[in-house]
Amino acid sequence: MTTRAKIVPTIFLLFFPITYFLWLLLYSSDQWVTSIVTSSIFVLLGFICLMFLWWRIKDPNEVKTFWFFLRIGILLYLISNVYWLISILTFGSLVYPNFSYLFWTLSYFFYLLALFYLIKELDSSRVSKDYYFNLVIFMICAIAVSIHYLIKPIVTLSNHDVIFTIISLSFPILGLGILFLLIRLYYILRFKGSFKKYSLLVLAFGIQILGDSVFGYQSIYGTYQIGSTSDVLWLTSYSLIGVFTFYYSHTSTKARRGIDDSVGFLYLEKIFPYIVISLLLLLLVHSYNWAFNALSFGFTIIFILIITRMYIINNRNESLLKEYSYLAYHDQLTGLYNRASFISDLYGLIERPALRGIEKNMAIFLLDLDGFKKVNDTLGHFTGDILLKMVAQRLRSVLDEKIRIYRLGGDEFLILIPNIDEKQSETIAKTVLQQFGSPFVFEHHELTITPSIGISLYPEHGKDSEALVKAADVAMYHAKEKGKNNFHFFNSDLNRTFSRKIVIETELRKAIENNEFILFYQPKVNLKTGKIVGIEALIRWTHPKLGSISPVEFIPIAEETGMIVDIGEWVLRTACKQIKLWHEKGLPEMKVSVNASLRQFQLGSFPRLVEETLELIGISPDLLEIEITESIMQNVNETIPVLKSLRALGVKVSIDDFGTGYSSLYVLKELPIDIIKIDKSFLDDINDYKKRSVVKSILDIGNNLGLEVVAEGIENVKQIDLLLKYHCMVGQGYYFSKPIPADEVEVLINSNSMTSYL
Ligand code: C2E
Ligand code: MG
Ligand code: MG
Repeated sequence: MTTRAKIVPTIFLLFFPITYFLWLLLYSSDQWVTSIVTSSIFVLLGFICLMFLWWRIKDPNEVKTFWFFLRIGILLYLISNVYWLISILTFGSLVYPNFSYLFWTLSYFFYLLALFYLIKELDSSRVSKDYYFNLVIFMICAIAVSIHYLIKPIVTLSNHDVIFTIISLSFPILGLGILFLLIRLYYILRFKGSFKKYSLLVLAFGIQILGDSVFGYQSIYGTYQIGSTSDVLWLTSYSLIGVFTFYYSHTSTKARRGIDDSVGFLYLEKIFPYIVISLLLLLLVHSYNWAFNALSFGFTIIFILIITRMYIINNRNESLLKEYSYLAYHDQLTGLYNRASFISDLYGLIERPALRGIEKNMAIFLLDLDGFKKVNDTLGHFTGDILLKMVAQRLRSVLDEKIRIYRLGGDEFLILIPNIDEKQSETIAKTVLQQFGSPFVFEHHELTITPSIGISLYPEHGKDSEALVKAADVAMYHAKEKGKNNFHFFNSDLNRTFSRKIVIETELRKAIENNEFILFYQPKVNLKTGKIVGIEALIRWTHPKLGSISPVEFIPIAEETGMIVDIGEWVLRTACKQIKLWHEKGLPEMKVSVNASLRQFQLGSFPRLVEETLELIGISPDLLEIEITESIMQNVNETIPVLKSLRALGVKVSIDDFGTGYSSLYVLKELPIDIIKIDKSFLDDINDYKKRSVVKSILDIGNNLGLEVVAEGIENVKQIDLLLKYHCMVGQGYYFSKPIPADEVEVLINSNSMTSYL
């Protein structure tokens, strides 16, 4: 409906009380004329209302009984006024006829019924019971005022005239009834979220009751005459009923859950009992003609103090409540939303619309910081917290205000983007990654931290929050596996990898017990002489159903779950037993290196385990070497004592995969180690000038620090030539031998030469 179409009938209907009021102000000198005009306007308005009721709400599809009784009420009102008009015109009487009184009163009875049925038909079962207190306060006040100012004087005035008493009393009593239902209706409508639809009706009846009260008061004290305030109020009330009827047929019923504050009455409702009770106090004092004595004075002051205190306590409670609900839905550290908030938001955005058959596109980004644990471990949790806050701020600053960001815990963040497709998601993911390009600067630190982002889309990848988060999680893991600092969309293939990961995790737990592990051995060779100078033990896992599973796949899972500790212990024991066996067989003594994981190092008890194992099996410590990756450099304070203890035992220590990770040359100097192993990625492409110069630098540094340098992954003679040129003496790789079972390597050791390859 256009605004114009709405305004015209509103103006038309409000025209009646306004012109009537103006006319009263300017010309109402003659009582007879005023009576004629008043009754005519009442009739005309009643007729228009009735017409609206019949034509606009022809066949109501809800609250039918309400409309039925409202029509009858208006009809009775119309009849009462038509009769009045006729009686003025025919008998010239200025008194409102008894017959009209009867119909007017009867009409109230039907309004009461109409409101009663409206409440019933609106189904108030779900309405909060909190408002009863307000209702009771208001009704007590209204009844008290009504008895004092209307009912009691009527009874006194009536002088035992029964008919007069009944008719006069029915007004305030029916009025109280309507008032009661009106307040109940008000709360029901507010709770159902359809207040706007009926607001004019509530207002109309409210004004009508006001008109009745004014009329009652005036007639008791003999001040009423036609054209008084009550007449203007009644006219306004009926014209509002007309407007309400007109609007009703044009407003859709869209009920919302919870209290609807679109009308902004929440505050008014809160202070309402205070206003009412203060008003009552004023009337009370007034009824005593403001004659205060010490008692009433004391009472009034205490009353005001108590009211003030209640108000303050109420306000404090409310702000506490707000704070609690803030805490319940926010992450305390970063101020972002939390998991609980995410679940409720997603319910609102997906599950509730889905019930109505609506599906809106949406993307869920699961963002995990790469290597955040390292920051926490090396710089402490305090610094970790600062970094998380800065990450939260940075995310907030890149993303549109409408996009909600949540912290799920730890270094996991979630971003919820409604109304978005795959392409737009990609753009946003790229922007986020770009923003992490510059370092976070705080205190004395300058940290660069990157995120890995997994993206799942609604509705393609899941229909509920659980499925969508799981899909984003799978995608995020994939982004991490693909080298971190990137993003990945979910797809069903990923699910397969993910399930494989879960299968591996479960199977790994049983692998030691079931004897599914064995050790393979790969010789380390003197590049000049071709003699075997050592052997690296490498774990192999053959699963009865899944077949052979590479350590590249299962070692990270074992590390993640902590199972690496048991596996590492098994590897160490098995390698030592093998050394012992070869010794007993009289093979030439050969140093065997065993790979250890950072998790084992961090236990602290690792050196003792090594010592006990050596003792138990009975081999010399100088036959054992421990290989550990550069990751130990994350926290040198923690690892240096472990390295020292190992060396004190007489065990050699080497840094594996050197050059790939965190090595800082400064730290290298401080580390109590014997050997560094150049990672094979540097030898993969020796034609690459940059890689060649890295190899040379590592060798220079190693040689300068007096460390032995071993090259990994030698696959051809060209690599050997280059290494020799750079003074690298030891290497291992497929060129000499792949990792092979113990009995096969035994043969090689026995011949103790790989010269045929050189
Ligand atoms: P790593 O300790 O650096 O082991 C060297 C890896 O390079 C081995 O892979 C080996 O088979 C492979 N390799 C050796 N020479 C060549 C070559 O010329 N060309 C190529 N392409 N590869 C070569 P593998 O056995 O698959 O082990 C992978 C990684 O798994 C190991 O890297 C090590 O970090 C880890 N790992 C293996 N066994 C254990 C273990 O018992 N404990 C722990 N904690 N980690 C282990
Ligand atoms: Mg190794
Ligand atoms: Mg290596």
